[in-house]
Order: sequence, then structure tokens, then C-alpha cells
Amino acid sequence: MHVIYGGTFDPVHHGHLRLALELCDRLAVDRVSLVPCHIPPHRGDTGATSGQRLRLLELAIAGEPQLCLDDRELRRAGASYTADTLRQLRSELGADAPLVMVVGTDAFAGFDRWREWQCIPDLAHIVVVRRPGPPLAPDSVPARLLAKRRVEAGSALSDRPAGYILELAPPLLDISATAIRERIAGGRSPRYLMPDPVWFEIRRLGLYGACPARNF
Ligand code: ATP
Repeated sequence: MHVIYGGTFDPVHHGHLRLALELCDRLAVDRVSLVPCHIPPHRGDTGATSGQRLRLLELAIAGEPQLCLDDRELRRAGASYTADTLRQLRSELGADAPLVMVVGTDAFAGFDRWREWQCIPDLAHIVVVRRPGPPLAPDSVPARLLAKRRVEAGSALSDRPAGYILELAPPLLDISATAIRERIAGGRSPRYLMPDPVWFEIRRLGLYGACPARNF
């Protein structure tokens, strides 16, 4: 089973990394691929370039065999659409291999605004990770899709290549990239919210308004 976990990772933090390892345990897979997006279609400019975000991810997962990086969206020109990524992966993996994509409830709530969203359940299973915030609106398209395709156990995902939706509520660290960017821009330390090598590189490059000369 191939599991991808996409995001802006602007920057990557311990919330992302802990979740990725929780997914390995709960889905009983050896590894999870982190897929940074190039130009996120649903939001404005990123604080760091895609090359810088990729570098921070490399530093974050160095030496961790259960996490790997898939930079295919950065190698593709233009906006990063999940349907394109899944189609590419599907052609590499073949028609029968189970493929899983992971999204937070916040992202899944707007699923029916994603480009070609109707194709996505034919390409992959979806794991929806419950995040703090409002639950899915009961009559929304994503809620109805979930009700129709829901499975209760991660083990069901290996039964077929695509089409199921699994909701998970793993323990989550209360960390967000937005809060980290604000903290750095305000001259406050983000240390221990992310791996040290990530923070040191952010500071060295002066990303997100960090002051390279200041040693906090
Ligand atoms: P931002 O604050 O810039 O929106 P973010 O921290 O939410 O960023 P993203 O790169 O947008 O991070 O998120 C990538 C994926 O990680 C999304 O599916 C999101 O739901 C999930 N995610 C973000 N923060 C956490 C966290 N603390 N724990 C678990 N999952 C998270």
C-alpha cells in the first residue's frame, strides 16, 4: 500500500512529522511519502520557495526510514493538482496497487472545490484525519461522499486499489505552520516546534523574517 501525505509544509513541523509516523502505525505500512506542493492552488504565496521547503523537509526526515519525500509536484510546471499527482502515481504503481492519500478535515471540507475531485475516489483511497475545528457540514458534498464510501478499519484499504474513505482521529500536536511563521516574524523562538536542523536552516537563510545574526 502506497501512502501519500501532501501539504504546503511552509515550514514542516513536528505536527506533520508525528502524524506521518502515527499513519505508519495505524495503516500498518512501512513508510509514508511526504509530497510538498509546488504552487498551492487554494492559497496565496508561500513564505519560502518550493526549493527551500523541500530542503527543510529533507533535513526534517534525515535518518528516519519510515518517512520519505516525493518531490514530483515540484518537478511539474504550474499549479499542483492532486488529481494529476494521483494519476501519475497510479500509472507508476499499476491498476491493482492500493494507493492512499491523506488529508485533514479542514482540507477535506472543501474537497468538492478541488479540480477533478470526482475522479479522485477512482484513483485512491482517502484517509481523513480529524483536526480541531468545525466538523464537516452534515449535508455537504464531502460529508455525503464520506457516508457513502466510509470504512471503519485501516485493514480494509488493502482489499482494493481505491475508493474507500477512512476517518482517523490520531493524537495531534497543536502546532501550525501559520503560528510558526508569525512567531518567527515577531522575533520569538519557534524552537522545539520543529526539528532543530529545520529551525537552524530557517535562521541561516533568514526565512519567514528570521534574523540570521540573532542566536535565540
Ligand atoms: P498552515 O498553518 O500554513 O495552513 P499547516 O501547519 O496546517 O500550515 P499544511 O502544510 O497546510 O500545514 O498541512 C499539510 C497537512 O498537514 C494538512 O493535511 C493538514 O491538515 C496537516 N496538518 C497541519 N498541521 C498539523 C498538525 N499539527 N498535526 C497533524 N496534521 C497537521
